[in-house]
Amino acid sequence: MDYQAANDLLKDRVILVTGAGDGIGRQAALTYASHGAVVILLGKTVSKLEQTYDLIVAANGPEPAIVPLDMQGATEQHYIDMATTIEEQFGRLDGVLLNAGMLGVLSPFEQIDLASWETVMKVNVTAQMMMTKPLLSLLRKADDAALIFTSSGVGKKGRAYWGSYAVSKFATEGMMQILADELSNTNVRVNAINPGATRTSMRSTAYPGEDANKLKTPAEIMPTYLYLMGPDSQDVRGQSVDAQPK
Ligand code: NDP
Repeated sequence: MDYQAANDLLKDRVILVTGAGDGIGRQAALTYASHGAVVILLGKTVSKLEQTYDLIVAANGPEPAIVPLDMQGATEQHYIDMATTIEEQFGRLDGVLLNAGMLGVLSPFEQIDLASWETVMKVNVTAQMMMTKPLLSLLRKADDAALIFTSSGVGKKGRAYWGSYAVSKFATEGMMQILADELSNTNVRVNAINPGATRTSMRSTAYPGEDANKLKTPAEIMPTYLYLMGPDSQDVRGQSVDAQPK
């Protein structure tokens, strides 16, 4: 996307980023902070979240907050407690980037392992729903709030062997559309981003033989992440946006 964000695009906004310790989420957290946001860094591995925290502070960004959470094991109560803590600390949320996700195992459909399928659905679908529910009341308290899901090319057109991951991303597209419709007359706009092939560890796991240097870096796809998170996309609702349009 050809979009130039103002330096203070997200000034004083409070934005939760999931999967903020690695890959695209880490870059999104750094980018949002560099545009003025107070970023709440959620992820599984505390040491990675601390690295993102240190990078933001070293760049003189607003001091972030860290929320360690394993979305595979978390219950509804964990998300309710998290929302309560955010409310106590910040009073509202201006944005949420639901970025954390897992690939699971690629295999022929006949060989899908049920336990692996259920883990992918828990992290990529059920956890997103459980997290979003208690956060909506915090988003409603903002003047202008953005909720962004993370989709994938295989969540729009099925592909052989992508089994559970692709089905989870189709579900993500559906969840985004349903919420966008329910919230169409509110201050909360709901969209999704399909990052496209991006140089991260998830991508290299899925395509081990690929030359990663030919892929876009997370930093190169940030214009779409800034546009949909900030006020310039105020009228965009229910869209699944490709960060790397063909
Ligand atoms: P990475 O594997 O690099 O990062 C995934 C992030 O999600 C990590 O920070 C990881 O935390 C976190 N995460 C995974 N499982 C859990 C869990 N159980 N609880 C909490 N956090 C968890 O992936 P990408 O950056 O590549 O992917 C980001 C998003 O973009 C995903 O939703 C992915 O499906 C999507 N996507 C990526 C594409 C690509 O080419 N890279 C293409 C299309 C879509 P930790 O490191 O601590 O495990």
